[in-house]
Amino acid sequence: MAIEHIVIVGGGTAGWMAAAALSRIRDGRNLKITLIESEQIGTVGVGEATIPPFVEFNQALEIDEREMLSATQGTFKLGIQFSNWGQVGESYIHPFGNYGYDLGGINFHQVWHALRQRGDKRPLQAFNLETMAAYFGRFSRTQDYNRDDLPPMNYAYHIDATRYAGFLRQYAEKRGVVRQEGRVDDVSLHAESGFVKSVTLQSGQTIEGDFFVDCSGFRGLLIEQALETGYEEWTHLLPCDRAVALPCNRDDGSPPPPFTKATAHAAGWQWQVPLQHRNGNGHVYCSEFMSDDEAHDILVKNLAGKPTAEPNFLRFVTGRRKKFWNKNVVSIGLASGFMEPLESTSIHLINTGVNKLIALLSLDGVNEAQISTYNRITRKEYERIRDFLVLHYNATRRNDSPFWDHVRTMEVPDTLTEKVEIFKANGQVLREEDELFTTTSWAAVMMGQGISMVGNSPMADNVATQMAGEVDEMEKSIRWLVERMPGHGQYVQKYGPAP
Ligand code: FAD
Repeated sequence: MAIEHIVIVGGGTAGWMAAAALSRIRDGRNLKITLIESEQIGTVGVGEATIPPFVEFNQALEIDEREMLSATQGTFKLGIQFSNWGQVGESYIHPFGNYGYDLGGINFHQVWHALRQRGDKRPLQAFNLETMAAYFGRFSRTQDYNRDDLPPMNYAYHIDATRYAGFLRQYAEKRGVVRQEGRVDDVSLHAESGFVKSVTLQSGQTIEGDFFVDCSGFRGLLIEQALETGYEEWTHLLPCDRAVALPCNRDDGSPPPPFTKATAHAAGWQWQVPLQHRNGNGHVYCSEFMSDDEAHDILVKNLAGKPTAEPNFLRFVTGRRKKFWNKNVVSIGLASGFMEPLESTSIHLINTGVNKLIALLSLDGVNEAQISTYNRITRKEYERIRDFLVLHYNATRRNDSPFWDHVRTMEVPDTLTEKVEIFKANGQVLREEDELFTTTSWAAVMMGQGISMVGNSPMADNVATQMAGEVDEMEKSIRWLVERMPGHGQYVQKYGPAP
């Protein structure tokens, strides 16, 4: 069945990211795209921290960064500061970018370890541009200095998610996407194929489509309620199942830090996402170990400003849809599954979902190979991210609450155990199948939470002897750059006042 009409159900971050990207394949074609959203239902209203591929998503849409940051009151993000995860009182940054440069194919942190054992006292963080800029609250792009011998600055954004959806709505509508306000009350299937045929709104209007993108959020209106695809729960690995979100003002005039904060509490953790006009805050927790009232009180006690809205309590079940693409429905965003916002991976999974859909989509119709490929790749993406998130909980030394006892001693996937054991042996990080998180990401979290390398890689030992001069140069060039960077607040202001 040829695809002449794509219907997107849902207008949150997922719906409008899908609409904006798909609008670019309309040019010169007989393709109609309709997005249905319901103001009455609204969006989840959270999801403000991103990771570097999101910068590329915006670039691919030829979105002007200055305009986008102004419209969304956005700031730059260089990584995440994790506090109280390894042990109460400890803190580390999981930075974007790498520790050091590649030294003849050897991971820099292994060379650093070899140097350390010979008495070098410099911390690993001194060899990562993003960490050093974050510590000093600075930001700039390396290209601002016209020196191509210096390391690049890797960054992402903090954005006001509601404003971002509004920004993309304008983008998509300009490119021919038709927005339909209304609540979907019914879904009809084709009798023989079981494909989705149409959706019917509360008003009685029926909208037929050839292909549907389910961006309806946790309810999974098409993928689950209509197609009964099934959900694989991961609560045994990622047991947090509640969040309370509460934005607060930034009236004290302090500049926004260029990083997200993730601070662990007795049965979960709190996020702080600095925007230009406010901080996004929330507390993710596990209902088995903490009540809603307790979670709310802890959040309020640890806010950096005055609340600017009512608390928004959310419930979720970590896991994934058994099939992300089923028949003529692809689920994207919360409709496809949810892990934790701990490493800001949800918007990223929207981004990769949209990219894969566009890469595989043929307007001549749907075939089984497209469906199975999409599902296989997405399942692996989800599982690799899941393992990385589980590491944060499992690699704790905290024993001060039943929650931390539970996650410290729970059974984890073999794939994760192997990664940790290999790292302990000599610092090697073996990444598989183009997984999202880099060697530096794994090393940062493992070392940040107290997992140490026991031995040295023999190759790294040799490199430490042969390339000590290069290592010195690396540290110097990072210091040179950071000393010249403006404060992050100043840099953001260069974009001018928001409309
Ligand atoms: P929603 O925002 O829920 O949108 C669903 C849409 O479907 C809405 O427009 C709604 O009106 C519409 N809809 C639903 N039912 C119907 C119906 N019957 N008829 C018509 N329309 C309907 N991600 C990150 O990347 N970074 C973060 O920092 C981050 N933090 C998070 C914190 C928490 C506590 C949670 C729960 C999530 C977080 N996420 C984060 C995830 C992020 O919020 C989502 O990935 C993102 O907002 C996309 O949501 P969505 O568009 O899939 O769903």
